[in-house]
Amino acid sequence: MAYDPNNIFARILRGEIPCKKVFEDEHALAFHDINPQAPTHILVIPKGAYVSFDDFSANAPPAEIVGYVRAIGHVAREQGVADSGYRILANHGANSHQEVPHLHVHIFGGRRLGPMLVKS
Ligand code: 5GP
Repeated sequence: MAYDPNNIFARILRGEIPCKKVFEDEHALAFHDINPQAPTHILVIPKGAYVSFDDFSANAPPAEIVGYVRAIGHVAREQGVADSGYRILANHGANSHQEVPHLHVHIFGGRRLGPMLVKS
């Protein structure tokens, strides 16, 4: 799948659409999910143009991978969920219902999160 430069998170990165930012550095941007599923629900996105984890893990240079992973851990600590526990989730493709085609990791926390997957 080719990267769509007009996806909603690309537009947030360009400042064309507002977000409730909680963190930004050279590799990543983190902001509140617009439709939170837990008391803490933050999205962390890489600044590079990657469709999903599949694309990122295959094609991103090591410095971007390290920067992104460190940003995710940093944001979780900064949001105060590292001690109580949190879940990270990255959807890729149709079976996962990925909605936005720019890699994003969800950080969920602030309550007991229940089972890992819903039975279908
Ligand atoms: P996915 O299903 O692709 O893993 O998750 C996409 C997430 O992006 C959803 O949780 C959805 O609520 C969130 N989202 C979609 N559009 C926007 C937006 O314009 N701003 C923010 N902050 N979150 C969005």
